[in-house]
Amino acid sequence: MGNTDRPRRVVIVGSGLAGTATAVRLLRFAREPVQVVLLERRAEYRHAGVAYHRAGNPWHHVFNIQAGRMSMCREDVDDFMLWANDEADRTDWPPEWRDVMFTESGPAPRCVYPDYLAARLAQAAHDAAPGVELIEADGDAIDIHAHSHHVRVVVESLCLPSGAPALDRAVLDADHVVLATGLETRSPGFAAEVLDHPAFVRHPYSQPGLRRLQGVRTDATVVVIGSLLSAYDVAGLLLRRGHTGTIHLVSRSGLALRPYPPDHQHRVLSLPPPDLGADTDAGADDLLRRLRQAWDAACRRVAAEFPDVAPAVVSERVAKAWEPYLPAILERIPSAELRALLDRYGSLIATLRIGAMAHITDPVHAAMGEGGRIVRSVGRVEEIRRGRAGMLVVCIGGGSSLRTIEADLVVSNFARESDYERVDSVLWANLLANKIACAHRRTGRGIEVDAQGRVVGPAGSACGPIWAVGSPREGDELVRHGRTGAFTFNLAAIKNHSVAVAATVLRHLESCYDDEPDERTRALVDSSMTELRHAVMLEVRRMAARQYHERHSLSEEIEGSLQAVRAIVTNGGGVVPAESALRSAVNVAATTKLTDLSVTPRELRALLGLHQNGRIG
Ligand SMILES: Cc1cc2nc3c(=O)[nH]c(=O)nc-3n(C[C@H](O)[C@H](O)[C@H](O)COP(=O)(O)OP(=O)(O)OC[C@H]3O[C@@H](n4cnc5c(N)ncnc54)[C@H](O)[C@@H]3O)c2cc1C
Repeated sequence: MGNTDRPRRVVIVGSGLAGTATAVRLLRFAREPVQVVLLERRAEYRHAGVAYHRAGNPWHHVFNIQAGRMSMCREDVDDFMLWANDEADRTDWPPEWRDVMFTESGPAPRCVYPDYLAARLAQAAHDAAPGVELIEADGDAIDIHAHSHHVRVVVESLCLPSGAPALDRAVLDADHVVLATGLETRSPGFAAEVLDHPAFVRHPYSQPGLRRLQGVRTDATVVVIGSLLSAYDVAGLLLRRGHTGTIHLVSRSGLALRPYPPDHQHRVLSLPPPDLGADTDAGADDLLRRLRQAWDAACRRVAAEFPDVAPAVVSERVAKAWEPYLPAILERIPSAELRALLDRYGSLIATLRIGAMAHITDPVHAAMGEGGRIVRSVGRVEEIRRGRAGMLVVCIGGGSSLRTIEADLVVSNFARESDYERVDSVLWANLLANKIACAHRRTGRGIEVDAQGRVVGPAGSACGPIWAVGSPREGDELVRHGRTGAFTFNLAAIKNHSVAVAATVLRHLESCYDDEPDERTRALVDSSMTELRHAVMLEVRRMAARQYHERHSLSEEIEGSLQAVRAIVTNGGGVVPAESALRSAVNVAATTKLTDLSVTPRELRALLGLHQNGRIG
């Protein structure tokens, strides 16, 4: 329940995609007054984060997946495309995009995404229930003091929209806090000597970084660290401005991105579980060998049984189909070995799980052939040191000898730091030091959370009402849901986190859910009673509806259904559940339906009957 001295408050730390999506869901789901404070430490990242902010993402940096998969709400699958085609203000769009009609399978520029997220957030605030308020504040959360029913968020440089002067340090009291702090970056140890060198670009997705890339001589020798998405972004940018010099892509894996076919659509295949044998003591190496065999067999099966699946996406289909089986498989691998496997095969898993748009890959692959301007080098960058005449020398290990490349410009890739014991964040350092959070035990990636996304300390229990959405849940997504590669932290994971966390927080906060459902109430909701099934579907529609008046009238219908259920139980001589417990159990069941990963978003929409009225709400 909320504290009575101030309005109920939920603070969301971080206003990238994950924070913004969670704010939208809270604003839409809330039935009772609440303040949703969306806190962001970097103004240019608001509704954007590093992946989409305009100053660091030029117009030809497109989403790596299709425009038709970029809706922020799974159940409202075409929402991004409809916004981009019908609502976006294209006045300052460049000619190559101004007249484009976006399609389900086609590309779209990443830098328009902040406008989309901002539009949906403003709409959600406008169409919220009375007393439900959005406050967008600037500030850097550096610590959280946890109590069993509230939190105190310590914020530096807090600036509230009220116009009051910024506060060097302030404390925001809240009933719940949602950590949407996003992608953490790894410091490139091998470049320690040259971090300030004018020929080293540490942050390619920043305005100064882009300026350096756009200012480099077209015949310059450029070394790009990495060979996947961020390396393609950089190489594509150089090629599009007519680069003639050699561009070296250096990575340990030497892997390349696979282009999606032009008509690619998301699809979930049903495949049997991999046959790994029942011998659980055979050791991780043996399990891995059998897993590889089963993987190859599954890929052959998809190719044979689904000839319409393009070869480039066979592995993606298998990885998706195996998601339900992976948690049990991973349980058979001891933690140390699991961590080693993830380190060793992380890039391979990433490329098997997801492709990239031809808009990204085509220019780069065309320049990779014999005598091309792009050269791939396999090896580990050991060191970058200062060379002659303002150049840098990149030392690459691997194999028997150390090779060097002399470069006019060296560009770091976007290296994520997944180990929260090493991330460069005062907030996370404090949360770990104070045992409010702990690094994910099994994978060493992200932090421990429970099934609802509540942050769990080293003792295995939650220290307070603190939740996480997005990348901090990377390891948990893998072992709990079998998600792999970018799907452990990208938009797909965030869509579900935002729904489940917003719904759960409100169940803790709102008085209409005061009673916890007991076993009997939960069993009742899971039963086949028509009235209850109807109530759950109404609740799904309420949660998916955008406008308050629609949600309000659905709420009234739900109340009618719940009364009918209670009357039926009374007449049957059963124990009648409390109204709020029943409401709560219905909300849980609706949340589960809205976050069902076993179908595509389009199938989900049909399954939930949301397609019947055209657009939602
Ligand atoms: C270059 C690039 C391209 C990508 N392209 C795609 C794509 O096409 N499709 C896709 O699905 N995914 C893509 N991704 C993955 C993408 O990162 C996720 O989809 C998503 O944007 C992550 O959102 P987030 O909110 O979790 O994190 P972020 O975008 O990192 O946002 C987190 C925010 O929290 C703020 N913050 C952190 N700590 C604090 C604090 N203590 N106090 C206040 N604020 C704080 C940060 O400033 C930041 O704005 C891409 C990633 C990168 C790096």
